[in-house]
Amino acid sequence: MLGISEEDVYEGRWRYLAEGALNVVFRYQATTNHPAFTGKVLRVSKLKFQDSGRMMDHMRQLFGSFLGNHLIPSSIPVALSGSVAAQLMHFILPCRKEKRRKEFDGDEFKALKQVEACLMPNLTLDSQSNPAFTLEIKPKWGFMPSFDSVHPVKKRFCRYCMHQRLKLEEGSIESIGGYCPLDLFSEDPERIQQALEELTLNPQNNLRLFVGGIEKDPASLMEIEEKLLGLRTRRQVLDLLLQVIIEITPLLRQIKAIQMLDEIDIQNLFPLWNRLEPDEKEKIDAAVLSQSWKSQFLEYARDSLKREVLREKPGNESGIESKSLDLSEVVLSLCAKFLVSVSAKDLSLMITIWPALDEDKIDSNLIHISMNGIQFSARVAVVDIDFKSSSKMKKWFETDQEIMKTFCKDMDIHE
Ligand SMILES: [Zn+2]
Repeated sequence: MLGISEEDVYEGRWRYLAEGALNVVFRYQATTNHPAFTGKVLRVSKLKFQDSGRMMDHMRQLFGSFLGNHLIPSSIPVALSGSVAAQLMHFILPCRKEKRRKEFDGDEFKALKQVEACLMPNLTLDSQSNPAFTLEIKPKWGFMPSFDSVHPVKKRFCRYCMHQRLKLEEGSIESIGGYCPLDLFSEDPERIQQALEELTLNPQNNLRLFVGGIEKDPASLMEIEEKLLGLRTRRQVLDLLLQVIIEITPLLRQIKAIQMLDEIDIQNLFPLWNRLEPDEKEKIDAAVLSQSWKSQFLEYARDSLKREVLREKPGNESGIESKSLDLSEVVLSLCAKFLVSVSAKDLSLMITIWPALDEDKIDSNLIHISMNGIQFSARVAVVDIDFKSSSKMKKWFETDQEIMKTFCKDMDIHE
């Protein structure tokens, strides 16, 4: 296995690129080319147990088998010792948000012999000598729950929009944004346009812009486009993005179908989960990670997609009413589906756009768009497909309750 040594992480060689609750991502930026690292990002797991690499691989395979493997970037595991990982974290400390530093400051790695890490292509770099820019969009929840006993407010207001109130109260956002994931997933050009517009106005952590591997303020999208692509009005820029989103309608529909594997909502699922015996609870994560579950997942996801396309309301497919099944088996299956749905609610899309090159025409994995007589190519990838463990079930339930409480209080709803 390729290893990363102390020498490979000398200050400045790996720069901070992004971070979530589970991973930190570094981009390679050295003055001299390195055959294995140039053009790559290093994704380091913050999880303290060994195995996150296998889990990540499994989730990528699971999603790849449904969404299309060409959309999931490849990854190469690398050997990284705890002390080298701690050093990497030390160098990037000033770039990290305080909230993330408090959760995990990097010194935790010192106690570990090995840290889970992998190399992935840096999707924010334009590989061609052609100007390009990349947008990272975290779409979040594209559906509203429809299960009978779900709180009526959840059927009227979308989860993301309700969550904005709690985020504002907690101080994690400065103002309530106008972006609504239901618009992005709506398949209605006007609503998608609205979603894109709102994302550029108040991106929060749902939109990021990269030019040549460097992160820029999404508000500067216009100037960048003008310099790079010759598009002159805000409308033209948004139109180009709109066309890309319309082209990826089937993908968005598939992502939404996976999200909808959350069939009965955490509000109903948590009490069922809570009643499981400890040894039964332990089986849930293993069920998601078992190879044999992959075919079941595909079946569930296809059913969910079919329902969505036909706009049918889910009935009792959850199987709760099915007498012939052992209840704990049903709950286990509901929980496993829910965990996969959580991953789909938190993934990101990387969309890179550039003026088309001649050779792009023969690449069937690219999106081809024409705007004002200029041909553009776009590449889409699905990233941040993390394994979510059922150990967070209680936390998700509590967050859900908080979101509802704050929203109903703010909106003066008594239901
Ligand atoms: Zn909304």
